[in-house]
Amino acid sequence: MTKKPKILIVYTGGTIGMVKDYKTGALRAFDFSQISNKIPELQQLHCDIKTISFDEPIDSSNMNVNYYVSIAEIIADNYSIFDGFVVLTGSDTMSYTSSAISFMLENLQKPVIFTGSQLPIGDLRTDAKENLITSIQIASTLENNEPVIQEVGLYFEYKLYRANRTTKISAEQFEAFASMNYPPLVESGVHLNFNYPILLRSKNKEEKLIFRKKLDNNIAILKLFPGITKKVVESYKHIDGLKGIVLETYGSGNAPTQKWFLNLLEEFVNNGIYIVNVTQCEGGSVILGHYETSSDLKRIGVIDGKDITTETAVAKMMYLLGENLTKDQFKEYFELPLRGEINK
Ligand code: ASP
Repeated sequence: MTKKPKILIVYTGGTIGMVKDYKTGALRAFDFSQISNKIPELQQLHCDIKTISFDEPIDSSNMNVNYYVSIAEIIADNYSIFDGFVVLTGSDTMSYTSSAISFMLENLQKPVIFTGSQLPIGDLRTDAKENLITSIQIASTLENNEPVIQEVGLYFEYKLYRANRTTKISAEQFEAFASMNYPPLVESGVHLNFNYPILLRSKNKEEKLIFRKKLDNNIAILKLFPGITKKVVESYKHIDGLKGIVLETYGSGNAPTQKWFLNLLEEFVNNGIYIVNVTQCEGGSVILGHYETSSDLKRIGVIDGKDITTETAVAKMMYLLGENLTKDQFKEYFELPLRGEINK
């Protein structure tokens, strides 16, 4: 019998930890330490499970950088004791949260699997059981006494994705997430099929986990739409302390070529505000300078977001802003894959 892995479940809130009061029909959070009463199957898994819960579980709409720090801190504090971590959050902002955690935990060499559910654990048709059980199984899969997954993943409806590649795509389907620019790391069928060649490995095995906790959320998203007015873009000038803008452009990174628009962007960049170009398309990549409509952005000094998702651009910006980098370093690091979040 191989070593029995130790798994820590971190419960932060969200639908997965709810039960339905069948008398009133209302959903309420249940005591997560009693999880094995709700899912007795957990006792059949070949691992020791401990749970830790936020004192006051939150709906993930209330997620913020302080909670990111709390989640990452729980993992960092327990890193040497456990072989793997399963983090339960609401699905609504799970892609943002799990992306942020991927940057906050540098040199990660153990699995951190985010999961949740569309229906509460106490619902007869719940997807919570499968999501939780398989996440724990993936987190506790060892080969040669080493975890197979050594990165932050997001498991939903039979697929484990690299977390910082995901987007929530449905408020209805059990298949709530997609990863348009990177294949699933694991697919769950009769067997768990690990896609070994695409799994992330730390460059330096000897390095310890580094917990990066100085996130800076003085950022904004600017989503372009045909007919966007000068007033809207100008209003960003009045955001006190703004340090970065995630600019959601069209197609492969295209934006209007009107003078007023380009002048305003140039003004932001000259004032030390970083602008990252991210496509509004769900799949594919920004290719700066591919069309005339993005050549000016390149000249101005807009950063190439490549095939990053908006969720991950937000997380990466908060992370890099907290690292006190020079202008050139910021651009260089943003355009490099730090945790497998973009293609080279
Ligand atoms: N509103 C919930 C949340 O994100 C939905 C869910 O748990 O999936 O917290």
